[in-house]
Amino acid sequence: MTEIPGIKELQREHKGLRRFAGDGAEVLCILRGPVDVYLKNDGYPLVDETIVIEIQILKGYPRVPPVVFENGNKIPKTPEFHTNPDGQSSFCLGVPFELERELFHLKGDLLGFYNSQIEPYLYAVFLKLNHDIPFVFGEVEHGTPGIVNELKKQFKVNDIHGVVFGLKVLTDSPDIINSTRCICESGKRLKRCPCRLNKRIKDIGEGVSQETFQKILNSIYLHTKVR
Ligand SMILES: [Zn+2]
Ligand SMILES: [Zn+2]
Repeated sequence: MTEIPGIKELQREHKGLRRFAGDGAEVLCILRGPVDVYLKNDGYPLVDETIVIEIQILKGYPRVPPVVFENGNKIPKTPEFHTNPDGQSSFCLGVPFELERELFHLKGDLLGFYNSQIEPYLYAVFLKLNHDIPFVFGEVEHGTPGIVNELKKQFKVNDIHGVVFGLKVLTDSPDIINSTRCICESGKRLKRCPCRLNKRIKDIGEGVSQETFQKILNSIYLHTKVR
């Protein structure tokens, strides 16, 4: 079996999680079982719950983030509770390119991923469920508009044209950075522009495949007239 970094450590922390083999194709392996969510953030109520979850480690891990969902009926399977309309109602743990980058920084450490993505998600879900508190760690609108908004913030650009510019840089050959002019008013080349958009583009792209950004770009092309 493929060794997944941090998988044993995760099972040590959450002893109810049992490991199962995958399907030999897309799913490398599965962790399934009850986990305790016992958490309290400053200014928020305590959550003390147990929930049965399943974590599917997919082929391509850690570049491809795990799929995580509930094996039970505690969480309403609605977009409001950030479950995905994928038939499994998998948890919407964040924007895919950010999960990919997070796993890159974690070097694929599954316990780290549980602590930074899954546990905060479960905490937010139970705060909403038990106390009607809106998602505490912020939420991104689903689908392309949400991703565009998120990228607009991160690139610090004014509109979708800026987002498309950044995505083109991320999906093109590295030379584009040397040859392209920045979209700000400086008239300087992107590489040397004092607005530092180049640096932000690099940071956003760190550890994320061109393919991931190409998918975002394609879905923008599909849903808008922006080119
Ligand atoms: Zn969501
Ligand atoms: Zn600039």
